[in-house]
Amino acid sequence: MAKTKKYSNDEMTIVWEADKCIHSGICVKGLPDVFRPKVRPWLRIEAASTDSLINQVKQCPSGALTYYMNDEDDNTS
Ligand code: SF4
Repeated sequence: MAKTKKYSNDEMTIVWEADKCIHSGICVKGLPDVFRPKVRPWLRIEAASTDSLINQVKQCPSGALTYYMNDEDDNTS
């Protein structure tokens, strides 16, 4: 069963698909205050700016991490 988690700040949402994660640790090395594999919830989106989060998500080699901007979801606000 696919496990998908979403983490949002004011601007964006990071989606993490557990089944795709190959535990390369690239996200953990890049932004250790955000990606904390030993802590639950493991992804603390408040710990980095939206720009650095996007940059890091793009480096995920497995495609487990993706993101979208919140305003693509809700054009009324
Ligand atoms: S970079 Fe992607 S594949 Fe690597 S640990 Fe993070 S989420 Fe998993």
